[in-house]
Amino acid sequence: MIIDILTLFPEMFVSPLTESILKRAQEKELVTIRTINIRDFAPGKHRQADDYPYGGGAGMVMKADVVGAALEKVKTEDSWVIMMSPQGKPLQQKRVFELAKISHLIILCGHYEGIDARIMDEIDEEISIGDYVLTGGELPAMVLVDAVVRVLPGVLDEQSPLEESFSNRLLEYPQYTRPAEYKGKKVPEILLSGHHENIRRWRKKQSLLNTLLKRPDLLLNRDYDLEERQLLEEIIFEGDLD
Ligand code: SAM
Repeated sequence: MIIDILTLFPEMFVSPLTESILKRAQEKELVTIRTINIRDFAPGKHRQADDYPYGGGAGMVMKADVVGAALEKVKTEDSWVIMMSPQGKPLQQKRVFELAKISHLIILCGHYEGIDARIMDEIDEEISIGDYVLTGGELPAMVLVDAVVRVLPGVLDEQSPLEESFSNRLLEYPQYTRPAEYKGKKVPEILLSGHHENIRRWRKKQSLLNTLLKRPDLLLNRDYDLEERQLLEEIIFEGDLD
């Protein structure tokens, strides 16, 4: 997979892309991530990439001709162009898995008051990271890149992304590591039992319980298998909710 990020502030990406899992994914050549400075496509000595809004008002607007030239430079027939925008569809894990199957993602970061609206014809999808407004699309782009890269085959242990929160419209079960006792609180005994089937069932039940307590909205309009129904009955009738 190739990810091209179009931004006025490429330096902002240096640290997030060169640490930990994202760094290793690039070293293993599972993904190529490039940042492209939109300002390089602005003409003239001053390389002006933004201008005052027509009709007046606060702030500056990124110029369609400059952003358009940057897009043209990187776009191919296989590209899928995403604009980070608070007006986009809020990002969800299901969409993350779908985007991870695309061979070339172009991510466009707005800044200031955003980008001249005439650029919209050149965009395939607007994505938001939540109902709040940030100063620029750089942090949202980092969120999107992180979410997509970590589910690419080979980046993490294969099972890991499939068992995580939201993968099955459920939150993940609680995790524990050493020490076996912390401030008098012991790790649930079943996790020390070595009985894989019991552990799997316990985790599924904890996952359902977690979701019921923290995000009951996820449980609506969801298909349940027989085991999940049984576990939910246990949760409701055996006092797990207390
Ligand atoms: N004037 C715009 C509006 O009201 O819709 C907001 C512009 S915002 C200050 C500047 C840029 O930050 C946007 O073009 C977008 O790229 C990015 N941005 C801000 N909040 C975002 C969010 N919640 N999700 C994704 N991108 C966001």
